[in-house]
Amino acid sequence: MTSDSQGSRPPRYKRVLLKLSGEGLLGNREYGLDLEMVNRIAGEIKNALATGIQLCVVIGGGNIFRGVSKAAEGMDRTSADYMGMLATVMNALAVQNALEKQGVQTRVQSAIPMSMVCEPYIRRRAIRHMEKGRVVIFAAGTGNPFFTTDTAAALRAVEVNCDAILKATQVDGVYSADPKKVPDAVRYDRLTFSDVLKQDLRVMDTSAIALARENKIPIVVFSLHSAGSLCEVLARRGLFTEICCDTEKE
Ligand code: UDP
Repeated sequence: MTSDSQGSRPPRYKRVLLKLSGEGLLGNREYGLDLEMVNRIAGEIKNALATGIQLCVVIGGGNIFRGVSKAAEGMDRTSADYMGMLATVMNALAVQNALEKQGVQTRVQSAIPMSMVCEPYIRRRAIRHMEKGRVVIFAAGTGNPFFTTDTAAALRAVEVNCDAILKATQVDGVYSADPKKVPDAVRYDRLTFSDVLKQDLRVMDTSAIALARENKIPIVVFSLHSAGSLCEVLARRGLFTEICCDTEKE
């Protein structure tokens, strides 16, 4: 029998949501966007799409502005959070531009309507776009202050019926502690949502974990730093941590 590594099996997922943090777009910069990085990520998305899956993306804004950052000190939290949401729109437009330059059809849908720039978020329309092979980029998080784009990712994944949330991070999975600070931190291949909550593992915020858990959507944590990693993860190869429902853990 041919193995997964020969790519002969159909993709495990039909539709996935990719969560990109703003940090992931930084490259070697300390602030803003590294266009080389954005182009590289667009290439990863293009290759993933070519495997036959449907794909949507939620983009963070932490590379530009975060409502809880030092730069927002003294501001009303709501105003600062709206600024953070607008930052995600900038990132979404950058990724859209990079994808379209590589011939991938996309639509940006914003939770804060801005009709001159992109579509408003409309669930059925988003699904239809994906069915037509377009990548839908969800911008402006949930549209509400006091939330994060992780929660937006879980919410959109549930709303548009995704089979998994792929969370791209700076490291290749979930560790027992920050591997950059604790050299002997343990890396997990598989966890349950209960493990994550009980051990207070910082994967996504608790509202995102709760949404994914309640709706039985696995979260796959991986690093986008090496070339081809998105396709690898979709083919269930390489390094990643899968967080699944308690009953699904082998
Ligand atoms: N934000 C918000 N509501 C949301 C999503 C995001 O208010 O539903 C704001 C919040 O200020 C947050 C910022 O947008 O700090 C950027 O999002 P996030 O921190 O999730 O970005 P990431 O860490 O993924 O780059």
